[in-house]
Amino acid sequence: MKYRTLGKTGVKVSEIGFGGEWLERHEESESIELLKYAAGKGINIVDCWMSDPKSRDIIGKAMEGCRDSWYVQGHIGSTYQNGQYVRTRDLKHVRPAFEDLLSRLRTDHVDLGMIHYIDSMEDWNNAMNGEFIEYVHELHEKGKIRHIGLSTHNPVIGKLAVKTGFIGMILFSINPAFDMRPATEDLESMFDGYDNDRLSGIDPERARFYQMCEEENVGLTVMKGFFGGALLDKERSPFGVAFTPAQLIHYALTRPGVSSILCGYDTKDQIDEAVSYETATEEEKDYASVIANAPLHSYMGQCTYCGHCKPCPVDIDIAMVNKLYDLATVQEKAPESVIEHYKALSHTASECVGCRSCESRCPFGVKIADRMERASALFGC
Ligand code: SF4
Ligand code: SF4
Repeated sequence: MKYRTLGKTGVKVSEIGFGGEWLERHEESESIELLKYAAGKGINIVDCWMSDPKSRDIIGKAMEGCRDSWYVQGHIGSTYQNGQYVRTRDLKHVRPAFEDLLSRLRTDHVDLGMIHYIDSMEDWNNAMNGEFIEYVHELHEKGKIRHIGLSTHNPVIGKLAVKTGFIGMILFSINPAFDMRPATEDLESMFDGYDNDRLSGIDPERARFYQMCEEENVGLTVMKGFFGGALLDKERSPFGVAFTPAQLIHYALTRPGVSSILCGYDTKDQIDEAVSYETATEEEKDYASVIANAPLHSYMGQCTYCGHCKPCPVDIDIAMVNKLYDLATVQEKAPESVIEHYKALSHTASECVGCRSCESRCPFGVKIADRMERASALFGC
């Protein structure tokens, strides 16, 4: 298992994580066993957005005696009222629900204290002004949450979160289908009408959000990486083709700023399948060819940082140069951190000999040699 630093929180999380929402649909003992099995495979991060007692107890029991080997994303604002999950900023419910979380998890803190699920401006304004956010800071000051995070499906909210400076990581929904859709305050309506217009490359708002996360060192963990299984099924996939788990994991893990993808599991086989990403070949992880050959897409000319164009005879990391070039050019002045990162590369764009052998391997028709020339001019080497 490979581990990545989760932005400014500094914690080292496994690339493959555990989304806990399916734990509740099995016998308690089975789900505890599943979590322990995942830990044995090197998975060290689990998301617990769920407010129901059963899910929380399962995670708590699975972590007993090995609390320190897990990083927990625990949500503030996810409450359980009359036997139902309710999202709220009302402290009358939020406070006891968070105390219940700690007690059922059998711990005195969660590592990543998530401001739970904000998708609308109205909710953002409500949560960020007043007693809810004061409570979040209080939990942080008391060490009950070690780092402040936020979960959202909306890149507009994500960008606002990055700008706060105090939110160190974000749980965000990422998959190739969501990435092509414009921001929305209502996740359920995201694909309304998509039959009528061709999907059209990465939405600029989303691309900018990922770039901001990387620039500001705000870590991303990923939810809905398989679009609830729709992308694994040709009939339900908006691209008209099915992806494999390894391809979707690779897609998520190659977005700027991403540290871990949290998958949901019902069985040990599914854990094995996700973890097998770590030893998969480049061919097995190759989502780019699937998108490029899909009946419905238009990513043409846009670099997705897939790395499909390797190898370069002078060993330029083309995907990384393209990513840094995009990061630098999206704003008026290239940020120092991006310039430093670029200059630290073993081989820079100025070494490009213009052979264009990479271009025949790029499924999206990116004019790579031209971009290398532009990157070299921009960075001066
Ligand atoms: S240039 Fe093409 S093949 Fe290379 S990383 Fe970008 S999209 Fe992938
Ligand atoms: S065109 Fe440049 S970047 Fe592409 S393979 Fe040749 S040397 Fe490498």
